[in-house]
Amino acid sequence: SLALFYDDDANLDLVKSKKVAVIGYGSQGHAHALNLKDSGVDVMVGVRSPESPSREKAEQAGLKVAAVDEAASWADIVMMLVPDESMADLYHAAVEPHLSSGNSLAFAHGFNIHFKKIVPPESVDVFMVAPKGPGHTVRREFVRGSGVPGLIAIAQDASGQAKELALSYGKAIGSSRAGIIETSFKDETETDLFGEQAVLCGGLTSLIKAGYETLVEAGYKPEMAYFECLHEIKLITDLLFEGGIANMRYSISNTAEYGDYTSGPRIIDDSVKDRMKDVLQEIQSGVFADKWLAEYRGGSKNFLQTRRNEAEHPIEKIGQELRDKITFPSEGKLVDRSRN
Ligand code: NDP
Ligand code: MG
Ligand code: MG
Repeated sequence: SLALFYDDDANLDLVKSKKVAVIGYGSQGHAHALNLKDSGVDVMVGVRSPESPSREKAEQAGLKVAAVDEAASWADIVMMLVPDESMADLYHAAVEPHLSSGNSLAFAHGFNIHFKKIVPPESVDVFMVAPKGPGHTVRREFVRGSGVPGLIAIAQDASGQAKELALSYGKAIGSSRAGIIETSFKDETETDLFGEQAVLCGGLTSLIKAGYETLVEAGYKPEMAYFECLHEIKLITDLLFEGGIANMRYSISNTAEYGDYTSGPRIIDDSVKDRMKDVLQEIQSGVFADKWLAEYRGGSKNFLQTRRNEAEHPIEKIGQELRDKITFPSEGKLVDRSRN
């Protein structure tokens, strides 16, 4: 049966009796640190260097800030919220030497524990609290009095209360307002990587670009292609999010629904599913993780070049022009890239 944990299933006092170091102040880090603080938890943000842009942001938000090693030795719970690819190096240099028995090491994604890039001492709790949403949404929903649903998982339960502590932490960042599901580090890691690669990020952006290019190459105006293949995604996904696939199909025209049934399976056919299985296999075997870490260790050259190339895609140019010229119904920018 589907068991979810809500506010009533979690004891906030548990995390409030601990000192929590949030290592990193990016997307997840700023949301965890600020939500914890607003929930009455004693928080300190750990930053990698005195010149770190994160340092000023966290200080301006009224948080205690220190170097990573200092925050780690001060804390009872160390939550690791730096990029996954850089996490093991930072852990070995500045966190591991300061963990003492009875401490907890926490994560928002299972990558480094599951693929054994970080192997913590047996005397500490190792748990995950992973909000299923971008950090900026985690913060926004909390401020609104709501929360982003989350996952918890326990890799090591040295204290005998790792699960209660994970739930307590999940409550402090707002996730138990929405609902928390318990999983394992393995399942969270593998499904998270698969979802972002095959569907949410990789699958979706490739689908959008292929649709856009097909229309533009057939002679249609780029602005028309942009609206049909990118802009309207939001309107459709809002309906999916709200009530699932049938809910979306209820709202679209019968013509759109008929075309959905007849053309959708021709676009995403069994050959796509076969390749999804290949992608899943590379995730499960650790091949993806090792490739990504090798890319990072090699200076991320291909990664950064691809980022630049992708930003040059014509759909990005026309999209920018349109968004500047047209007022869309919105509640303002979710992500202000000039600050957190
Ligand atoms: P970010 O990329 O936003 O983290 C940026 C922070 O990490 C900054 O404080 C930055 O410091 C610091 N940092 C960057 N590079 C390094 C480095 N080489 N060494 C030490 N510190 C560094 O991370 P996310 O919030 O995206 O991800 C954090 C964790 O949360 C990951 O495990 C991720 O999988 C997980 N997660 C992320 C989600 C998201 O919404 N992004 C969703 C769910 C889970 P500086 O200011 O000095 O650059
Ligand atoms: Mg992810
Ligand atoms: Mg239409």
